Amino acid sequence: MKNTNKTLIIFYLLITYVILQFLWWGYHISSLTEQLNDNEAYISRRLTMIAGEGTVFIIIICLGAFYVIRSYYKEINLAKKEKNFALSVTHELKTPIASSKLFAETMLQRNDLDQQQITTSLEKIIHEQNRLNDLVEKILLVSTIDEMTKDMQIKPVSLQSLINQIITNAPKSHIISNDLLENCVISGDDFYLISLFQNLLDNAQKYAPKGSEVRFFSKESTTKIILCISDEGIGIPDKEKSKVFERFYRIEDEETRNSKGTGLGLFLVDKIVKMHSGKIFCKDNLPKGTIFEIHLKK
Ligand code: ATP
Ligand code: MG
Repeated sequence: MKNTNKTLIIFYLLITYVILQFLWWGYHISSLTEQLNDNEAYISRRLTMIAGEGTVFIIIICLGAFYVIRSYYKEINLAKKEKNFALSVTHELKTPIASSKLFAETMLQRNDLDQQQITTSLEKIIHEQNRLNDLVEKILLVSTIDEMTKDMQIKPVSLQSLINQIITNAPKSHIISNDLLENCVISGDDFYLISLFQNLLDNAQKYAPKGSEVRFFSKESTTKIILCISDEGIGIPDKEKSKVFERFYRIEDEETRNSKGTGLGLFLVDKIVKMHSGKIFCKDNLPKGTIFEIHLKK
């Protein structure tokens, strides 16, 4: 961080020096023009020209500096997000590997375990392996999704039954309701659509207290299908609402830092909505929580 501050200070000093030097040259040229000529009309034309050209150059220098500084901050933010991602992925990979290893070793070393204990340990191992599998699949999907767009298998998909299927397989920690209208049918690829709603449901369950309601519902529209998922969780502050769709982005507060995640879920969601020529909006649920609203073509 010290180094990056130093680079910025040098950059600002250089830009200030260039602009001051420029103004100084402008001043010199104009006083030379005045010394060499006594024709007032000519001097005034020259001064206007010098001032005009000088202003254009200064504007160009300032614009250049603005773009350099903007991309510099983008790079810094990306590096920070990638570091967070690497840390959370390492953590998320290590935890299931370590716990399934522990369960397997316990089963191997102890021969006094009854059938029930063995079954519980095996179930835990399978659960951990599923977590690993989900994580690896999510990372693979993110790295291939741009090329996969052209191989989409488009067919009519009933969103009501697709969401029913996702709810059936979801953990039973929340009250999940499906209030979608039956006529919610779109042309899309069900593989990606499942991943889209699965990620939104994962978030709703992760960032809302156990036992609260998560609701899928649709809104009437003649031209498009509007589909929403609401939760009663911690909510997303206004200034973070557009940022949460960026790759690796996680809101940095105590509540989310305590939960596990890579910051890839909503990035994937946004990509899949765009693959289906749709739009996604993040809104507040009242009195608390979040609503993700998706607009798709009929
Ligand atoms: P994962 O890659 O495992 O999904 P993640 O859940 O942290 O990790 P995203 O799904 O991309 O990543 O979400 C980005 C951030 O947006 C989250 O870290 C969280 O801070 C915030 N967020 C997303 N959904 C919700 C929600 N329903 N309620 C509150 N905050 C949310
Ligand atoms: Mg998520």
